[in-house]
Amino acid sequence: TRRFNFCAGPAALPESVLQQAQQELVDWQGAGLSIMEMSHRSSELVGIANKAEQDFRDLLNISDDYAVLFLQGGASTQFSAVPLNLLGDKKSADYVNTGQWSKKAIKEAQRFCDVNVVASSEDTNFTTIPAFDSWQLNKDAAYLHYTPNETIGGVEFFDVPDVDVPLVADMSSTILSRPIDVSKFGVIYAGAQKNIGPAGLTMTIVRKDLMGNASAHCPTMLDYKTAADNDSMYNTPPTYSLYLAGLVFAWLKEQGGLAAMEQLNRRKAEKLYSYIDNSGFYANPVELSSRSLMNVPFTLASADFDKAFLAEADEAGLLNLKGHRSVGGMRASIYNAVPEEAVDTLINFMKDFAQRNG
Ligand code: PLP
Repeated sequence: TRRFNFCAGPAALPESVLQQAQQELVDWQGAGLSIMEMSHRSSELVGIANKAEQDFRDLLNISDDYAVLFLQGGASTQFSAVPLNLLGDKKSADYVNTGQWSKKAIKEAQRFCDVNVVASSEDTNFTTIPAFDSWQLNKDAAYLHYTPNETIGGVEFFDVPDVDVPLVADMSSTILSRPIDVSKFGVIYAGAQKNIGPAGLTMTIVRKDLMGNASAHCPTMLDYKTAADNDSMYNTPPTYSLYLAGLVFAWLKEQGGLAAMEQLNRRKAEKLYSYIDNSGFYANPVELSSRSLMNVPFTLASADFDKAFLAEADEAGLLNLKGHRSVGGMRASIYNAVPEEAVDTLINFMKDFAQRNG
């Protein structure tokens, strides 16, 4: 039997998607072979990729001004692809530092350009979003990069920054959790292994006029134009991950799209935060208005309880609640594929644990 998976990534996938994939694994729709065994030049696979792209575009309402790229290397590779593609003849880029993933993006960009950290919430131990009017923006910056959802700290932006330079967002852990206005962004990228599908695929959305200016030493494989000109099939794409992501996109449309997901995700998150806040035993340190809908870190009354909590949660069918090693405590990642029932079960378990140990 399947249990509830609160892993931050690779994360839970919809059960119906896994069942469909299982059915199609050995013999895809009577083709006599698995998708995994098919050429990426085959009409079947090209059809799957085209449908996946169209469904992704429909879900996020992406206009023809944008290319949708199916890439590899994870979000971490985009940390370097972004400056390599967008710097042009500029020497610097603006970055906002709201946590561990921002820091990694900054560190990588520093290999290619001057990085201006225009705002940081490090002084609050990354429990807040720096107020927009305090950002020290630079007119000469090639772009502004930020991390709309910090997976480790559990901090999320609910407003899109208004800036004059192309806006670049690492949406790895928030993409597809709610509608966004893509037209406000220059580049959006995300590792797939949270709300999109299995690890191995990276989605990048690029405004078309920003392509074609990659630096001379940009590797062919990191140049967005290479991917766009070749329908993301310049080399062998991660075909199986792409297929599975396509099933997830179709599933999301069946659920009613991103407006419906937002309602559900807000309900799940509000329940959990409200229980934590009123429990007197658990705590979440993030400022109320910046709490992530997807990643909910929390601590217990004493870290001495952590081990027992994790062992008993595991026994109760609640998996992967251990917090990130850099912050400790617990973290419940409640992505799209984590059902409301999982959150209810978790809250009941937390109540029971607190009663017995409080
Ligand atoms: N950015 C964010 C916000 C993440 O949560 C992660 C992974 O958890 C990454 C980047 C790194 O992604 P990848 O493992 O795909 O390189």
